[in-house]
Amino acid sequence: MALARVSEILKMADKANTSVIAFNSSDYNMIHSVFTIAEELNKPALVMLDPRHAVLWGWGNPEIYAQIAIEEARKVKVPVSFHLDHCMDFDLIMRCIKAGFPSVMYDGSMLSYAENVKNTAEVAKVAHAMGVDVEAELGHVGFAVTETDQDDLDLYTKVDVAARFCEESHCDSLAIAIGTAHGFYKKTPKLDLQRLQDINAATDTPLVLHGGSGVPDDQLEKAFTMGINKFNVGTEYFYNYYQTMKAYCQEHEDIFDLQTTVQASLQDYLRQKMQLCRM
Ligand SMILES: [Zn+2]
Repeated sequence: MALARVSEILKMADKANTSVIAFNSSDYNMIHSVFTIAEELNKPALVMLDPRHAVLWGWGNPEIYAQIAIEEARKVKVPVSFHLDHCMDFDLIMRCIKAGFPSVMYDGSMLSYAENVKNTAEVAKVAHAMGVDVEAELGHVGFAVTETDQDDLDLYTKVDVAARFCEESHCDSLAIAIGTAHGFYKKTPKLDLQRLQDINAATDTPLVLHGGSGVPDDQLEKAFTMGINKFNVGTEYFYNYYQTMKAYCQEHEDIFDLQTTVQASLQDYLRQKMQLCRM
C-alpha cells in the first residue's frame, strides 16, 4: 500500500529540492496511468479531482474517485496520493474528506484576505482532525485565455502577506501566483522567480504552482529548486487524451482498442513530463 499523505510527499520533494507533479485526472484511465508511470519511474506522483468533474458536470462522484485512487495506489510501491483541486464548496470538501481524500484545496483566492484566512482555517480545523491536508491559495492564478491575468501584478502573491497567511490559516501548502495562468498560454509565461524566492524565504510552508501546461522546462526547473514542491498540470494531460481519441476515431471503425490506445498515449506523455521531478 503506497497511499501516502500529500504533506509527506511534499516534504520528500522539499528535501530533494524538487517538486512532485500533480495531474488533474477525471477517470480510471488517467488515474491508472499516473500511478503506473510513477511506479515505473520510481517517482512519487499525485492525481487531482476537479470539482467540476465531480459534481457540476456530473461525470462521476468523489466516493467512486476515492475508491479507484485507493485501489490503484494499493498496487504500487512508490508513494502516491490524491487531492481535491480548487474547491470553494464546504459541503463538497466535507464529502471528499469523508470519502477518504488525503488532501483538499480550499480556494479562497477571490475573497478578501480576512475571508480567505477565516474559511481556510475552518476547513483546516476539520481536515486536520481527520488527518487530511489542506492546500490554500493566496494571490490569484487566473486564466491564460485572458492574456492579461498572467501579467497582472495585482493578482500576484504578496511576499509580506504570504507568511502571515500560512500562520493564520494553518494551511499545509500554499498555491502562489507568480506569472502562471490556467489553460493554454497565448504568450509564453515568464515566472517571477525573485518573488518565489522571497516567499520561500518568508515561510516554511511548501509552495504550489498552478497553471503548469506550457511553462518552459528551464523556468520550471529553476522554480522547483526555489521552493515549488507541488506542480499542477491539467490542460496538457486532458489535451493529450482528447487528441488521441480524436485521431483514433478518425482512423478506426472498431473502437475496442480505443481505451488501450489512449492509455498508451497518456503514459508516453507522463513518462516525459515526470522527468521534471528529480526524486
Ligand atoms: Zn489551479
